[in-house]
Amino acid sequence: MSDRAGLVIAIDGIAGAGKSTLAAALAERLGLEYLDTGAMYRAVALAAVQRGVSPSDGPGLSEIAATISLEVGKRVLLDGRDVTGAIRSAEVDATVSEVAAHPGVREALVERQRQWAAVRDGAVVEGRDMATVVFPDAQLKLFLVADLQVRGERRFAQSAAEPAPGAVAAALARRDEYDSNRQAAPLRPAPGAKVLDTTNASVAELVDQVLGWL
Ligand code: C5P
Repeated sequence: MSDRAGLVIAIDGIAGAGKSTLAAALAERLGLEYLDTGAMYRAVALAAVQRGVSPSDGPGLSEIAATISLEVGKRVLLDGRDVTGAIRSAEVDATVSEVAAHPGVREALVERQRQWAAVRDGAVVEGRDMATVVFPDAQLKLFLVADLQVRGERRFAQSAAEPAPGAVAAALARRDEYDSNRQAAPLRPAPGAKVLDTTNASVAELVDQVLGWL
């Protein structure tokens, strides 16, 4: 592996494909920090629910995205309050994609994401538009996929609150469809991205494979 100074690994992919897990494992191995940008969109969706702002209210949501205080690390702090669990609620799951489709919301969060990276000497970043929009010059671009049924089962196993694996899978598929068909920064592999199917691979196998590409 060559010099890692300033290394940016951009991970995109469909919902529940294991982006956060892989990002965390890679960051640990490389001694870098990682950013879960989905948590940022979720925090905006949660703030909107709390303030009674509709997921269709573009200007209202953009104002929230530009003005909230947001810290995303092991815990997620929204205006100083720990919302690590709350951003994973069914209500946020159901509204986050509509919230994230507003260009004004994206502009505000993309700006925050670039600022976060600018003060770090390299990072692993994950989301839906890391390689296509936010970090197009990333040295390594990955696009994660996995079978829908397996994604539903994994998510179901992670959360006691979920109804059934099939229902979880259906909700993931709905979000993928919405995220892929929006006008602003639609979900798709960036040119040059390596597509990784995580269906049958362990985290350790995936990490080894990715490190081999550096
Ligand atoms: O990654 P996660 O599933 O938590 O993301 C929640 C939602 O946030 C996605 O379904 C998508 O609508 C939005 N998102 C986005 N761009 C990103 C990260 C997440 O639009 N970079």
